[in-house]
This record gives sequence, structure tokens and C-alpha cells, in this order.
Amino acid sequence: MGRVATDFAYLATIVAFILALKFLSHPATARRGNWIGAVGMLVAIAVTFAQKSVVSYWEIVVGMAIGGSFGAVAARRVKMTAMPQMVALFNGVGGGAAALISLAEFHNLAPASGRLHGDISVSIILSALIGAISFSGSLVAFAKLQELIQGRPIVYPEQQIVNGLLLAGVLAAGVAVVAGSEKQWLIVAVILGALLFGVLFVLPIGGADMPVVISLLNAFTGIAAAATGFELENNVLIVSGMLVGASGTLLTILMGRAMNRSIANVLFGAFGQVGPSAAAAAADTDGGAVRSATADDVAVMLAYAHKVVFVPGYGMAVAQAQHDVRQLADLLEARGVEVSYAIHPVAGRMPGHMNVLLAEANVPYPQLKEMDEANSEFPRTDVALVIGANDVTNPDARTNQGSPIYGMPILNVDEAQSVVVLKRSMNPGFAGIENPLFVNPKTVMLFGDAKDSITQLIAGIKAQ
Ligand code: NDP
Repeated sequence: MGRVATDFAYLATIVAFILALKFLSHPATARRGNWIGAVGMLVAIAVTFAQKSVVSYWEIVVGMAIGGSFGAVAARRVKMTAMPQMVALFNGVGGGAAALISLAEFHNLAPASGRLHGDISVSIILSALIGAISFSGSLVAFAKLQELIQGRPIVYPEQQIVNGLLLAGVLAAGVAVVAGSEKQWLIVAVILGALLFGVLFVLPIGGADMPVVISLLNAFTGIAAAATGFELENNVLIVSGMLVGASGTLLTILMGRAMNRSIANVLFGAFGQVGPSAAAAAADTDGGAVRSATADDVAVMLAYAHKVVFVPGYGMAVAQAQHDVRQLADLLEARGVEVSYAIHPVAGRMPGHMNVLLAEANVPYPQLKEMDEANSEFPRTDVALVIGANDVTNPDARTNQGSPIYGMPILNVDEAQSVVVLKRSMNPGFAGIENPLFVNPKTVMLFGDAKDSITQLIAGIKAQ
């Protein structure tokens, strides 16, 4: 395939990737975005296959068959709740591939002294370093989410200093290569050191913060892939790597902002350690009275309301109650009740968690209200039905300056006429803190698994 034709085909691929991102940013067009991205990738692979520089096809085909069949089976079988760890795994192997390519390129160029020019050596070191960190860090994130190792932060004394010294050593080896040393052991040291750094860097981060870490490591893999693109002089790899790098970085920043935590706090704060405050929070709330209601009481409240807002959270995902929730919404709508869903950007445990679950249950998109819109509706809402959400409704974020989540934007459910909270106990959520909403005189608790409670509410409303 000629140079010009290749460049045009790669340009078309780049346009496809950009369009894919655009379409993926809205639920109604996300499916189309996925397709456009997949077709773009197919074209990129086909064009790369047609290059004269491909020495042998069969090794590539065998590799693709093994990787492709593993990917297809894993993607079909994975449960929605296990999606973050699958993303971690797939992301990690991307970083690992970038590191291996840099090793191969170094091996290829270094022995003939003088061939490893400055610019190429910078790309080789960057993709080795960042790719290896992303690989091992993602594997630890996977193991934490899969509960193969404990999710709580694993901390030991002087951790930050050990990590800092290790990174400094790895960078020194990288600088030596860029400065002209072509010793093989240096690149091996960069990769092994970076692998160890990736493990030590992710171990102290709590399991529930893994989605933020995965998003950051995803950005790392993108940057490593772009650096590999410079090594291989492949434009499509440079651009697509940078698209992944940029979108991963933006997502990381947005998630940090929605949790009102700096990225430094997520990465170095060991959030989620079990301390005395979490234990105290689990015991009770402020001594205030908690009012619990029966499913029949709540069914009456819902059936005679004008406007009900559902507030889903992590507990809905755990209970897999989304289909029952949709059924409850249909039933209420049939009775003339106005129903909508208030979606907090970090409700659940991964970006877009609630949107994905509710889309799976075919909830109509116009009923999903983002935080600002939902907050403007709470004052004219009769019942806010909180389904396994906790931190994202905690009014302390507005009023209690001493709270770890002070300043986090929340859903102001306490502005509704009545609040019903569906959860199993008085235990805290991810942040490990008390929620004064539960003792608010407007609030009643409906204790139990969210799926069971919703099923009982459906039966109760049918009986009205
Ligand atoms: P929370 O973790 O604050 O609360 C979830 C609640 O669900 C718990 O209090 C729990 O109470 C309840 N629950 C668990 N299982 C069930 C069940 N089977 N049936 C009914 N209730 C159940 O979740 P939110 O969604 O409100 O908030 C998300 C939190 O996660 C925020 O702190 C956010 O910052 C954090 N986070 C989110 C990320 C994201 O990308 N979305 C990434 C990283 C962190 P009980 O045990 O009593 O049932």
C-alpha cells in the first residue's frame, strides 16, 4: 500500500476515533459511537497489515486469535458489577504491550552504536516507564476489585519515601539511556523498576477509589501508546494514544471534582482506611431518632404523590434492583405520578454506573436528570426515594465544615417534602461517615435489600 493511501486511510481512522468519542458522550448515541470506533480500528488494523514493513503474518494472526478470543469471551461473560476490573485488566495489557515494544525497539537499535538517536530514546524510555507502571498498577487494581487481595489501603511506614526513591532510581536509569548509554540492562532496570513502582503505588489506595486510579492508569496507557507511535513512526498510534491520554486525564479530574477530592488525596490519602471515625459512624447517628417505615406505608406515600424522584446509588447496583425500579416507575406513571431519576456523577463505584444500569433496564433517557437539574426539582418533589445511595445525599457536604466530604456537590434530597431511604442497616457508605439525612424528621427508613424492598413496594402499590 502506497504512502499517500496509507496516510489517507489513517486520517479516516483518526476522524472515526474522534467521532466515536463525540457520540459516546451521550447515552442516546453511545452505541453508534462504539460502532464507529470499532470500524475505525478495523480499518487501522487492515491498513497496518498492508504495510511492506510487516515481515511475517502468521505470528500476528496467532496472537490476534488468542487475544481476540479471550477479549470476546470475557466481554460477553462479564457482569455489569465486574466491569471496572475488566477495564483495569484490558487497560493493563495495553500498557504492558507498549513496554514490550519499547524493549524490542531498544534491542533492535541499541547494538549498532549511534542508531539510538535522542528523540527515539526518549520515546522508548517513556513508553517503557509509563507502560510498565500502567501494567502492574492495573493488575493490582484488578486484584483489589476482584477481592483477590484486600481492598483496604495497604500502608507501611515511610511508604511515600520508598516510592519516591524507587521512582528517582528508575528515572536516573532512563536519563542514562537518553544521554547515550546503550546498555541493555538499563532498559531492563527501567521496566522492572517501573513494574515494582506500579505495584507499590496502587497498594495503598483503597478499593473504592480504584475507578479513579483505573481512569488515571488508562491515561498512562494512552500516553505510553502515543510514545510507542513515535518509536514506530505511526501517526494513528500517536493520535489515538493521545486521545486516550487526554480523555482519561479529563475523566480523572472530573471524578475528583465530583467527589470534592484532589487527585493527590485519592492517590496518597489512603482514603477508606478503617479508623475510629468510621467505626463510630457505623454505630449510630448523632443520637437522633431514626424512623423506620413498612413497605405498605411507603407504598401509600408513593401512590398518592404527584412527583417522585428516584435517587439510585451503589446499593441499587449491589442489589441489582434496576429492573424492579423501572417496573415501580411504570406502575407509578400509570397512576399519573410524575417520575424522574436524579443521577449524581459519582453515585455507585464507576463513572456512569447508574446510567449504565438504568439503560440496561430501558429507562427512558429524558427521565434521567443530572445533578443540577435534579436539585432544582427537589423543592417541588413530594417523595425522594433514595435507593441504596448514601454519601451522594449527605447534607453534611453543605453544612458541616469538619466533614471529610464538606464541599462535595450532593443531591439535595432533604429539600423534598418527604424522603424515603432504602438500605439494609445504619452502616455508612464509601466515605465511612454518618449521614444526618437519616435522622432528619422528613426521612423514613425502609430497611432491607433494595431489590426486596422495591418488590414489596410494587406489591403494595398494586394493592392500592
Ligand atoms: P455509598 O457507598 O455512599 O452508599 C451505598 C449504600 O448502599 C450503603 O450505605 C449501603 O448501606 C447501601 N447498600 C449496599 N448494598 C445494599 C443492598 N443490597 N440493598 C440496599 N442498600 C444497599 O454510595 P453512593 O452511591 O451514595 O455514593 C458513592 C460513593 O462512592 C461516593 O462516596 C463516591 O465519592 C464514591 N466513589 C464513586 C466512584 C464513581 O466513579 N462512581 C469512584 C470512587 C468512589 P447498607 O450497608 O446499610 O445497606
